[in-house]
Amino acid sequence: MAMSVCRVSVLGATGSVGMSTLDLIGRDPDRYKVAALTANGNYSRLAELAVKHEAELVVAADPEVAHHLRGMLKGTGIRSAAGEGALIEAASLSADWVMAAIVGAAGLAPTLAAVRQGRTVALANKECLVTAGDLFMREVAKSGCTLLSADSEHSAVFQAMQGIPLEAVERIVLTASGGPFRTWSRDQLKTATPEQALKHPNWNMGAKITVDSATLMNKGLELIEAHHLFACGPERLGVIVHPQSIVHCLVECRDGAVLAHLGSPDMRLPIAYALGWPDRLPTPVARLELAKLGQLTFEEPDEVRFPALAIARAALERGGGACAVLNAANEVAVAAFLDGRIGFLDIPAVVTDTLERAERNTVLAAPASLEEATELDFSARQIALEFLQRRAA
Ligand code: NAD
Ligand code: MG
Repeated sequence: MAMSVCRVSVLGATGSVGMSTLDLIGRDPDRYKVAALTANGNYSRLAELAVKHEAELVVAADPEVAHHLRGMLKGTGIRSAAGEGALIEAASLSADWVMAAIVGAAGLAPTLAAVRQGRTVALANKECLVTAGDLFMREVAKSGCTLLSADSEHSAVFQAMQGIPLEAVERIVLTASGGPFRTWSRDQLKTATPEQALKHPNWNMGAKITVDSATLMNKGLELIEAHHLFACGPERLGVIVHPQSIVHCLVECRDGAVLAHLGSPDMRLPIAYALGWPDRLPTPVARLELAKLGQLTFEEPDEVRFPALAIARAALERGGGACAVLNAANEVAVAAFLDGRIGFLDIPAVVTDTLERAERNTVLAAPASLEEATELDFSARQIALEFLQRRAA
């Protein structure tokens, strides 16, 4: 039977998840047609991808690169645009499937635009759920959009829970690789450089999430993400360190059975699951050879050396706008660390200080609209930046 054509858009096409998505899509050009591709400022790569995948529309978020993009696409018939409004237009363009792979809270408005169109949305951008999870999930329910997580652990949980009612699940445990500093002492962590933090042992990802994996903030953000995706309170969510990144989740059931999801650490696995759902697509992902691996190991996360996990859990328990503040402060801190302006251990310090100040200034109500979420994100960034300025003075 002939397969119907599937129109796909990729928001954040030039990034690590975006490129993995296009790698899968490019393997079956008869089945997938590319509607819109977006990026921030990397116009050369964006234009190359647009030509290769015969996109209809390409958008750069950075308005400064508009004429470069136009120049590169001259004569191709591919439409291009730039700026925030154009990004929303790209996200709203008619498509059957949208990959949301912009990094950071910058992804919230375009991803919500795709959700509001009632598309099938593959969600890699976890910051959407951290910043405005309640609002985001309300919009998903209202539009009838199909939301499929493209975060490996959450995709794994979703797969492991097929056929299991939520009441039968005692706990959902996310695995964490522990990052490049898993065995480092606190003294060593004080001097950790961006270059060292960017060397992830198992996953090849964008800079921001790679630093988040080194601080364990990524797992903190993922706890909040799981809370929204699976309607689970923080008391039913756990984290375990698993350095090999082969087991992606553990779903503990009330009868004592534990369901795990295993696979090579390759993002094409969760992306392909979201792309093919409810079917399973063939993929080039390396097959697991457990006998060759020999052993899979597990340990408790060390919340003294890696306080970000406990900070994120506390923000989730605090509720309201605390998670949005946590996310904004973390984005500011990670950018400052990557710029060499602060040390590795300053990242959780910036986040804690920002949360405390936001609480005192009572800017901690949960955002009820996209505008409120944007405002809260902005004011939290201001608080975090002021902290950095005071520290530098
Ligand atoms: P990346 O940095 O490699 O790519 C980010 C993409 O977003 C790029 O296309 C970039 O041009 C675009 N972008 C950046 N800032 C933007 C802005 N202000 N406006 C519009 N577009 C902007 O990041 P990544 O590693 O691909 O991660 C993307 C998202 O997926 C993140 O939220 C991350 O947490 C999540 N995620 C990534 C992985 C992974 O393996 N890389 C795994 C799970 C979840
Ligand atoms: Mg993940």
